[in-house]
Amino acid sequence: MAPAWSKQHWEALPRGTYGGAAPLPAALTAVHGLIGELLGADPGAPLWVDVHRWRYALADAPCAPAASAGIAGLFVAGDMVAGQGRVHLAIASGRAAAERIAAALDQ
Ligand SMILES: Cc1cc2nc3c(=O)[nH]c(=O)nc-3n(C[C@H](O)[C@H](O)[C@H](O)COP(=O)(O)OP(=O)(O)OC[C@H]3O[C@@H](n4cnc5c(N)ncnc54)[C@H](O)[C@@H]3O)c2cc1C
Repeated sequence: MAPAWSKQHWEALPRGTYGGAAPLPAALTAVHGLIGELLGADPGAPLWVDVHRWRYALADAPCAPAASAGIAGLFVAGDMVAGQGRVHLAIASGRAAAERIAAALDQ
């Protein structure tokens, strides 16, 4: 689910596995309905549902790689540099860090 939905329903679902004969909690029933809307078809009853919480999984503010790059040969890369949890941004920051390392080695 998207960050806004997760924040809104954070306390509604304890981490764990749901399903089998027991009815799903209301929040999971709502997710199931949204999946059906997205697919445009009834996906059928889920066999099981696994709830994970990723409270600190996504960077929401960038750090300052340019400043870090000059300190004791330390080069910073990753999604924290971009300030968004996205794979392609993490890769781009890694490439940029590699270029800064190469430039530093040339000096
Ligand atoms: C549930 C979830 C879903 C996601 N879905 C998407 C998606 O659909 N699309 C998308 O673009 N992005 C998604 N992301 C975000 C994406 O996974 C991250 O933006 C990306 O993995 C960041 O790459 P990274 O190299 O900066 O950090 P990471 O991939 O987190 O790598 C950091 C590495 O450092 C290691 N490490 C940490 N501390 C230490 C230490 N002290 N010593 C040694 N090693 C250490 C860790 O073990 C890890 O291997 C998702 C993230 C999560 C959690």
